[in-house]
Amino acid sequence: MEGRTHVPLVNEALCGVCGICRGACPALASPDLAEGETGTMRAALAPQATQGNEDLAPCQDACPLGQDINGYLACLAKGDQQGALEVILRDNPLPSVLGQVCHHPCQQACFSATVQAPPSIRDLKRFAAQAPRPEPAAPQGTAKAKVAVVGAGPAGLAAAWELARNGAQAVVYDAQPMAGGMLAWAIPDFRLPRIDLQRDLDYILAHGVEFKLGQALTPEDVAGLRDDYDAVILACGAPQAKRSGLPGEDLKGVWQGLDFLREAALDCPPQLTAPVVVVGGGNVALDAARVALRQGVAVTLAYRRDREQMPAYAEELEAAEAEGLKLVYRVQPVALEAGEGGAVAALKVLGTTPGQPAADGRVAFAPDPGDERRMEAGSVILALGQQSEADAWASGLGLDNLQGDAQGRLAPGLYLAGDLQTGPATVVEAMAGGIKAARAIMEEVRS
Ligand SMILES: Cc1cc2nc3c(=O)[nH]c(=O)nc-3n(C[C@H](O)[C@H](O)[C@H](O)COP(=O)(O)OP(=O)(O)OC[C@H]3O[C@@H](n4cnc5c(N)ncnc54)[C@H](O)[C@@H]3O)c2cc1C
Repeated sequence: MEGRTHVPLVNEALCGVCGICRGACPALASPDLAEGETGTMRAALAPQATQGNEDLAPCQDACPLGQDINGYLACLAKGDQQGALEVILRDNPLPSVLGQVCHHPCQQACFSATVQAPPSIRDLKRFAAQAPRPEPAAPQGTAKAKVAVVGAGPAGLAAAWELARNGAQAVVYDAQPMAGGMLAWAIPDFRLPRIDLQRDLDYILAHGVEFKLGQALTPEDVAGLRDDYDAVILACGAPQAKRSGLPGEDLKGVWQGLDFLREAALDCPPQLTAPVVVVGGGNVALDAARVALRQGVAVTLAYRRDREQMPAYAEELEAAEAEGLKLVYRVQPVALEAGEGGAVAALKVLGTTPGQPAADGRVAFAPDPGDERRMEAGSVILALGQQSEADAWASGLGLDNLQGDAQGRLAPGLYLAGDLQTGPATVVEAMAGGIKAARAIMEEVRS
């Protein structure tokens, strides 16, 4: 690292990606050496010396599942794809899924990210996950619990796997006829091939997890499950679209983004009329826009802030643009205009202007009443957020609210995990929540 006395030399035959060199890196061991320096690699790395958990590589520290990333990259570096998969499976039952859609906080956290493009950790996981699945090991523990999991999304699946591999009995209920939650219907198959999801589901089933699908449970059903099982985990996600409240929202040709994706994946794809306008800037908006583009129609995405503020993943945005998506920034919808036969004909928007950053650093974009515009539209897809049914679950279960503790514990033997607990988040965070709840249940049952 621009050492004053020596230049580091990596012997690739010996390097095991163990991370030990980090401890001896002058930039990290003695950040004071970088004092006054700018523009050098040491100056770029030095501020990281005081961040994060010093016992873990930053990538592993940033991963909600604590994946041993050094470990599996070391296997891959030696050409051992099977070994890499086995390392991944120690902490993660959905390697094929995460190899496709993880938001990879590990890559952003990588020490090298400040000076070069970090390793493509997610893509390497995707490659490792193509190795044959090993036979599941015999249960590692003797947890005697019998647990019902409500919701077969990533939170429920990870919880059930963690329970089963520790000897507990896990039964997963889901309202849909197939397991996977958002992975099975919200994330389009061109981003997450269903064969990859199935490979992970088969692996979870091989651990002895039981699925009871096509059963939409009510709070009364859950109260009954609490009598029959040692514990229940609620992992029902945040599957409702947030309505915009705009005049004209119920016109023919107007879709809520989540409903549009659900129908496109599970029923007949909705027939869109060009031009299509999608409103929003998150995952749902981008995925809905890309599904719409596949019908061969012109699609424009209208977002009220700038590109830098978009919550959608940058790589997805770039892919959508390459597929022909047009983007219009700084416009806020105010109404949907009806045309012939009561179908939508246009979206009325106001231009927005950025104000001063708020305390959290976020810039508010205020609509300008003098800047009204009309975007012609044959179909409109509104993707303005998701919400859970937390309030309905809380009142149905006789609870004040649905805020569990850090392990997701709501009451003795009753836990929650995933988007239902955190609000809309990510696959890997939902899985981590499920595993945490499973471990807390095993602890509770043991004591
Ligand atoms: C369009 C879209 C794209 C996304 N893209 C990404 C991405 O690229 N990367 C990423 O990391 N995250 C992404 N996410 C977020 C991610 O999918 C979610 O954070 C994650 O699926 C949450 O997992 P979960 O298990 O909490 O809930 P869900 O996946 O929503 O699963 C909940 C399950 O509970 C079931 N359920 C609900 N109510 C009941 C009931 N009463 N009885 C029985 N079963 C019930 C549902 O049928 C569902 O199967 C995306 C989300 C969306 C909507």
